[in-house]
Amino acid sequence: MKVYYDGDANLDILKDKKIVILGYGSQGHAHAQNLKESGLNVIVALHEKNEFWHQAEADGLEVMENKEAVRAGDIIMLLVPDTIQPGVYKNDILPNLQKGNILAFAHGFNIHYNQIVPPSTIDVIMIAPKGPGHLVRRQYQQKQGVPSLIAIYQDYSGQAKEFALAYARGIGATRAGVLQTSFKEETETDLFGEQTVLCGGVTELILSGFNTLVEAGYQPEIAYFECLHEMKLIVDLIYENGLSGMYYSVSDTAEYGGLSRGPQIIGEESKKAMKEALKRVQDGSFATEWILENQANGPKFNALRQKLDNEKIEKVGKELRKMMSWINNK
Ligand code: NDP
Ligand code: MG
Repeated sequence: MKVYYDGDANLDILKDKKIVILGYGSQGHAHAQNLKESGLNVIVALHEKNEFWHQAEADGLEVMENKEAVRAGDIIMLLVPDTIQPGVYKNDILPNLQKGNILAFAHGFNIHYNQIVPPSTIDVIMIAPKGPGHLVRRQYQQKQGVPSLIAIYQDYSGQAKEFALAYARGIGATRAGVLQTSFKEETETDLFGEQTVLCGGVTELILSGFNTLVEAGYQPEIAYFECLHEMKLIVDLIYENGLSGMYYSVSDTAEYGGLSRGPQIIGEESKKAMKEALKRVQDGSFATEWILENQANGPKFNALRQKLDNEKIEKVGKELRKMMSWINNK
């Protein structure tokens, strides 16, 4: 796979463009400050004069109200929450968009599932850092970058890829390396990953392990340490050294036990369920469910959150984490 670095990206093609960063949250504050420090023209766009507005000004950035900023801008990067983007697009962006503008995203959901349908006379690109905004900012300040994905949905100018690479360079991403994907691939793999492995899979694995031990009469506090707390140690090892690298670091007993029992826990049945989840991502039925859920103000969503809050592990964990001075207790 081709990896793009600084030498593949020409920052100069953005020098005469105004880049509007809509939203000043996790990604927004990092993109805006990094691009500005890369010598580019940045306007932060917000919808009300609240703490984000003051923070952006304190960070030395020009801030405007959404509509005004879009009118002044050439590149519009949408960094407000995904569920809010379609409304902002309809009310503030579309009426003020000009031919030849560039609409940019950090996640493909709204384009891929047609929640935002852009006119054909603009470029539509994605620059998606594979890390949270604070890391994107911190790495940039340390003269490093966070690996990122770029994608082109619409290439009106014939230069969309050059623009995406230049933007990626502006936020520091080409220092680390940039890979090309499509809106479809980024969106579908992102949803699949968070549903089955990262968020959904991991929480249910922890819960099942914890509840199995507690139901068998073991102390919840001990079960918490074993099934939740130690997860971080193992994930850190996997993150740094891969799966075999993790096994190299644990005891032979843990290695043999894991290698032999793991496939019995996550086996064919789980794989079947993952394929089903993937199908629902690919055919759009998950997206439809999520959009309708939001329109109805999240009845199922709230019930699911409530159910998790009521799990014993959450109450036990809250107490145990008070013993851990290095953790920000909430
Ligand atoms: P945040 O939730 O951090 O963004 C919140 C910001 O959006 C706030 O400044 C908020 O201001 C502002 N905002 C909300 N509504 C509006 C509005 N109507 N007009 C202008 N500003 C508004 O978002 P993220 O940074 O997490 O996500 C942004 C995009 O980046 C998403 O597409 C996401 O999928 C993607 N992404 C996120 C990653 C992450 O780690 N967070 C990683 C990679 C991609 P206020 O409170 O005043 O409304
Ligand atoms: Mg993701």
